Amino acid sequence: MRVNDDKQKNDYSNVWVIAEVLSGKIQPVTHELAGTARMLADKRGSEVWIVLLGNNVSEQAGTLFAYGADKVLVADDGSMANFNDEIETRVLVRMIDKYKPEIVICGATTRGRALIPRVAVVTDSGLTADCTELDIDPENGDLLQTRPAFGGNIMATIRCSDHRPQMSTVRPRVMKAPDPDPGRTGEIITENVTVSDKIDIKRILEVFHSSEAAVNLADAQIIIAGGRAMKGPEGFDILRAFAARVGGAVGASRAAVDAGWIPYAHQVGQTGQTVQTKVYIACGISGQIQHLVGMQSCDLIIAIDKNPDTPMMQMADIAVTGDLFEIVPALTAAIPKL
Ligand SMILES: Cc1cc2nc3c(=O)[nH]c(=O)nc-3n(C[C@H](O)[C@H](O)[C@H](O)COP(=O)(O)OP(=O)(O)OC[C@H]3O[C@@H](n4cnc5c(N)ncnc54)[C@H](O)[C@@H]3O)c2cc1C
Repeated sequence: MRVNDDKQKNDYSNVWVIAEVLSGKIQPVTHELAGTARMLADKRGSEVWIVLLGNNVSEQAGTLFAYGADKVLVADDGSMANFNDEIETRVLVRMIDKYKPEIVICGATTRGRALIPRVAVVTDSGLTADCTELDIDPENGDLLQTRPAFGGNIMATIRCSDHRPQMSTVRPRVMKAPDPDPGRTGEIITENVTVSDKIDIKRILEVFHSSEAAVNLADAQIIIAGGRAMKGPEGFDILRAFAARVGGAVGASRAAVDAGWIPYAHQVGQTGQTVQTKVYIACGISGQIQHLVGMQSCDLIIAIDKNPDTPMMQMADIAVTGDLFEIVPALTAAIPKL
């Protein structure tokens, strides 16, 4: 709702994370966001609450304290077995009206992108999608929501000073999950799902996962990515051979995807996937901001490029100057077969 003064703002407190549940299981983005929520709540002197919506999910509620939650708010009902944004919106709006969170963070997943805009409209809240960084003004609780703007050419920090709660979505793998602390405990609050929550105009017949998930960039530990320098679809063969040798996955820049050399499911960046691997090897990718926002959180970045002055070569932990068509096969040959 619109808040006109500090007194109204002070009615809202705590940082909420909407747990991402897929096929009945809590997804890692929940832990990533819990870590960020903990940082925000500590700066503000408030609590982290995680909202767990789904069917047969109650038993997993206790696992969330280890990631920084103080309270877990659970609504467990068969009507939410398959993601249903209408029902989840009603339940979440009721919870927000009742407990008045200052901040609500949700994964920018298929589910989050459907759910949170609905909730933001009904509660008349500010929403910033696809944030890459979150911070807080500890004095007034304004959430500092940073995201690429104007086609990724600038990073904008957005405040929704006049509305509470403040809502953000963040893509999976953008934030780092904290190491779990099994000694942490907290309180579980159970909320009912009412008959009127369940009124629904659509029926979900089946939920299935896209075949694009087979590329599995999000779960890879090592990604070898190629750009415009690969020259054509067959250029990616040397990256596939390297990836097979090290147990990695193949990524790509948008230039390579737009050229039709490799399917979109491999694209890393602002309009592709965000990845957070242990090792990211960029082969002939210059490192424009739209690509960097999708991989800059990787632990070790290795760049191979003819030009030592590209943004990717400058930001890499290891920069190898040279022709990738010589370097990549030589590296592959040097790694023993498993
Ligand atoms: C709204 C918007 C969204 C976008 N989203 C994305 C996105 O999600 N992901 C993305 O990647 N891009 C995205 N882009 C495009 C982005 O701006 C760049 O155009 C793109 O990333 C460039 O791809 P590249 O690095 O492969 O190509 P280039 O910039 O052309 O770089 C090719 C590099 O290869 C090097 N090279 C050439 N030959 C060799 C060789 N034989 N050996 C070694 N090095 C060699 C060159 O020196 C150069 O550095 C987006 C753009 C816009 C406007």
